Amino acid sequence: MRSPLIKIVVVVISIAVVASADDTKKCNTPPEQCARQIRQMLAGRLYLGVELAELAPGIIVKTVVPDSPAEHGDMKPGDKLVAVNGHRTTEASIKDFKQILDEVGRTHRHLWMLVQRRGAFKKIDVMMEPYSKTQIERIVTQHLTEAHSVASAAPDSRP
Ligand SMILES: [Zn+2]
Repeated sequence: MRSPLIKIVVVVISIAVVASADDTKKCNTPPEQCARQIRQMLAGRLYLGVELAELAPGIIVKTVVPDSPAEHGDMKPGDKLVAVNGHRTTEASIKDFKQILDEVGRTHRHLWMLVQRRGAFKKIDVMMEPYSKTQIERIVTQHLTEAHSVASAAPDSRP
């Protein structure tokens, strides 16, 4: 049997780093307990600020969060990730990318990437930052809305 904590980590990462519709799942933990656990988990965790999309194969940047480390590092929607901190990512999945981020985050904040943008290669440097209190509260709210309240959940209708 898995602990509820592990389940929440997965949900939080998917929302915070690479939100993806397929990852949206209902959460059975009581909301208040869940919010507390998310806050504890994100305190000190590093933040990049991109939403990614999976190609077959490869990963591209779908959206960049305004004023995020990713935006400060000049990542742009449409960038295809070619390499991240020495790992080739031309055939990587989003899951592989998360693993690289986790690995990097254990020792430092510096992410260097090679991306392909409109056919040309570009080197990108990003300093990941810890989540701010505001960001953490936003993620908590988003999780509570998406995974706890069911009123108008329509996962397939995206703007
Ligand atoms: Zn929850």
